[in-house]
Amino acid sequence: MSRVVLDVKNLSKYFPIKKGKLGTKKEMVRAVDNVSLRIYEGETLGIVGESGCGKTTLGKCLVRLLMPTAGEISLWDEGSGQLKNVLKLSRKESFAARRRLQIVFQDPYSALNPMKNVLTAFDEPMRIHGLGDKAERFEIASRMMLEVNLRPEYLSRYPHEFSGGQLQRICIAKSLAMSPEVIVCDEPVSALDVSIQAQTLNLMRRLQRDFNLTYVFIAHDLSVVQYMSNRVAVMYLGQVVELAPSRALSDGGLHPYTQALLSAVPIPRLGARKDRILLEGDVPSPANPPSGCRFHPRCRYCMEICRREIPKLQLHSDTTPEKTGEHWVACHLYD
Ligand code: SF4
Repeated sequence: MSRVVLDVKNLSKYFPIKKGKLGTKKEMVRAVDNVSLRIYEGETLGIVGESGCGKTTLGKCLVRLLMPTAGEISLWDEGSGQLKNVLKLSRKESFAARRRLQIVFQDPYSALNPMKNVLTAFDEPMRIHGLGDKAERFEIASRMMLEVNLRPEYLSRYPHEFSGGQLQRICIAKSLAMSPEVIVCDEPVSALDVSIQAQTLNLMRRLQRDFNLTYVFIAHDLSVVQYMSNRVAVMYLGQVVELAPSRALSDGGLHPYTQALLSAVPIPRLGARKDRILLEGDVPSPANPPSGCRFHPRCRYCMEICRREIPKLQLHSDTTPEKTGEHWVACHLYD
């Protein structure tokens, strides 16, 4: 197995909100609550779940666009040959670690400054991180444009002169220019036309091979996540409820929430049908999550224990790491 490049331990991110008529009562939205994950070098870890489940907040914490409320994020340090908690690094080390963790956002239109040309978008972060002189940075930007099948002459153009697909490729090239090790891809194709989604996904897979990248691929579409990922983490209300290799999930998930998500994935075959599991009720508020298992108000297998006790994410006993890879699930059905 490859080495662990990013080790996330008990990560939480809470946002305070004011309530009451005078706004004096404070509550916490538990966007990410006690999440632990290991991300291996060269793999794609997919993170899937409904809107508001905390996947984007988790992604932003990983690249430290958001400061976690609690927990650890450790990044592999080649120099010392061990994992180092990026939240406890010195200012200088922390700055260097930022370059190694990049993010590609969902909306390429708002990810680029409309007042600045593409070359400036490439140049600024490289200059801040001290990567080469002006001529070298121009050369890197031109090379990265070619890598995403765009002509280097386009560097002088402005964002409004490109299509959504081209802009997203520019954003990918821009993050590649920083020579990252891990790229968090936050719904990178969901704002694109269906016709160019596959093209962009295939390009990302090629770049991953060529540059030995590790991806954290966030999306709400399970079929896209399964196509891209080696392993998939399913999130519900800020917590990981299942973590398994993609191929194990295609045989059917273990957690009732994963099963409902999988039942919504269409089968690309004429006349093919499958029984859809319809989830009842709304997603509860992350400011006031249900007791015990957070999924219990919507779960068709809910038992008495589910209302009382929080199920732990544990290795499922019927899976062997040698055969299918580790399959983790948080559900009392498998205790
Ligand atoms: Fe359903 Fe209980 Fe499992 Fe939660 S722990 S998913 S409520 S069976």
